[in-house]
Amino acid sequence: MTTVPPPAAPAPEPISPVQAAALQAGVLPPVEAVRPGIWTLAVPFRFGVPDATLVYVVEGSDGALTLIDPGWTADDDLDALRDGLSGIGRSLDEVGLVVVTHLHADHLGAAAAIRRATGARVAMHRLEVDALRREREDAAANDADIATWGLPEHLRAGVVEAWGSGRRIGLGRTAEPFADLLLDDGDVLPVAGRTIRTLWTPGHTAGHCCFVDEADGLLFTGDHVLPRINSGIGLGGRTGANPLGDYLASLGRLDGYADLEVCPGHEYRFRDVVTRARTLARHREERSRHVAAALDALSSPTLYEVASRVPFSGGIESMTGFLLASALTQTAFHAELLGRADEVRPA
Ligand SMILES: [Zn+2]
Repeated sequence: MTTVPPPAAPAPEPISPVQAAALQAGVLPPVEAVRPGIWTLAVPFRFGVPDATLVYVVEGSDGALTLIDPGWTADDDLDALRDGLSGIGRSLDEVGLVVVTHLHADHLGAAAAIRRATGARVAMHRLEVDALRREREDAAANDADIATWGLPEHLRAGVVEAWGSGRRIGLGRTAEPFADLLLDDGDVLPVAGRTIRTLWTPGHTAGHCCFVDEADGLLFTGDHVLPRINSGIGLGGRTGANPLGDYLASLGRLDGYADLEVCPGHEYRFRDVVTRARTLARHREERSRHVAAALDALSSPTLYEVASRVPFSGGIESMTGFLLASALTQTAFHAELLGRADEVRPA
């Protein structure tokens, strides 16, 4: 019997013609007002894909600026951010708070340089600080995992370099993990005159947070929900939980926010986070079915053999380094969530 897969749900429409045009042209979108006292600007990320981060600038009633995800910087160069802020007649010196959705370099990367330049406080979820602190031991533990995956020999060194102890650039690109303010679920950000609430959404990383500004009708989603990209899972250090299970639960946490404008960390702003979250959850369900089918078909497979039967976009044969490691760990999360981890044979 042949089953016809349901058509892939279309990506949500961009709210902003400016962001849509920039995306089409492959250039950074210009600074744009989102609400009175709230703007978005883009800074380049030269280290990977996606290649730009959307930074949100929020003005408090005291005039101080808060940045949600300051983006990336190369060599502490903050010119892209300075240029963006000057486009709204503001300066970096007015930034008093930097809030990050999660620890990845394209979101947290510029925080340390801004803190040094301006004395701004940096806020993130406490689990992100823990993960940054554990980064070295996690990398060594990842090496031990990689050795069990059954990788073809010629791929192994590249995976260790991207995922294990060979990694040259840290998760957050910070010499020392730091935060001035540790966030927990439900915490209100210290932004004068506004109520922006922390919504803990683990999955992409263990301490990933979205931020909810109901009065302005905005939901800042970082990399938890993006309009076109399926975010990777479990990319923020090792946790005791299954990041895929966390992620699916975190998608469910967005129910009730369908009316808010979605302000993601990349691509463009859009409406109806609930529909997008359901599409993302369906994508994961489908992948679970593929992992289950691979486990049904194979006898005592290695993780690489299981993943080879999962139709990752581009195909696992084309993957190396970070992408390959991510595909394999996601396969392991699916197997575990299916209760079938013990069917995968350590190589
Ligand atoms: Zn990102």
